Amino acid sequence: MSIEVQYRDRAKELLAKGEVKLVIGYGGGSTPNRRRPVFASSPEEVDRLVLDSLCIANLSGYLVTEGLLSDEKKVAVFLRPEGIRSINILAAENQLNADQVVILGFETAGSDIRPLEGGNVLDFSEFIVTLSENRVVSDSDPVIDKLENMSAQERFSFWQDEFSKCIKCYACRQACPMCYCRRCIVDCNQPQWINTSAHTLGNFEWNIIRAFHLAGRCVECGNCDRACPVNIPLRLVNRRMAVEALNSFDHFAGLSVTQEPVLASFKKDDTETFIL
Ligand code: SF4
Ligand code: SF4
Repeated sequence: MSIEVQYRDRAKELLAKGEVKLVIGYGGGSTPNRRRPVFASSPEEVDRLVLDSLCIANLSGYLVTEGLLSDEKKVAVFLRPEGIRSINILAAENQLNADQVVILGFETAGSDIRPLEGGNVLDFSEFIVTLSENRVVSDSDPVIDKLENMSAQERFSFWQDEFSKCIKCYACRQACPMCYCRRCIVDCNQPQWINTSAHTLGNFEWNIIRAFHLAGRCVECGNCDRACPVNIPLRLVNRRMAVEALNSFDHFAGLSVTQEPVLASFKKDDTETFIL
């Protein structure tokens, strides 16, 4: 039996028994090589679900839709490892109750797809620890290495060129499961913290602020990178920040439901002078 059929059967069973009120998965997209989110609330709707190596979007962000989990019923969601890490972060940041989330986990390698055993996020604890152990400090990217070897001025020019393309559409923010604020700072106009028009300096401001908000929280799912209509390589920023969090703070985002945020926690014996 294919993994797709296996997971459809599981989804049908969950809905038929009333164990979940909704299944969030993948369906056919606008072109043969794209997948889009599908929301099934009855066993009949489950036949629209597909599961293959093209199912790469992190669907965890839909769980924080206002009111979705407020009735305390459960929702099942198809998640790759990055998505499972997102659930840990969203739970640690009190955005959802992880017990209301039934995980239909899977991972892909090339065109292969394999199931991940478990249902609750705690079932994946060991798996995520192993992922973090395999994420070694030297785990870098040739393009990042190239950027690292540039002078500060060359690197600035590189990002100036890239960010000058930004049209401030905020698709990156909308696609990111970690950008869940009901009202983003960029949408405030009294006071107006960030210029809304697209120009290189303001675009820098927006992208750097977003990178800092994601520091130690980004699970490198790639949703933002894929959503960017002008192909700014946001993955480079995310990856660099993740490596920095790992190197400097031994922090692997989304390790557990109790993990403290790396830039919002301190210890009494921290050496920084600003801590009294
Ligand atoms: S910043 Fe991008 S890669 Fe990181 S969690 Fe958000 S969408 Fe995923
Ligand atoms: S998706 Fe791309 S163009 Fe749109 S705001 Fe984000 S970086 Fe800018």
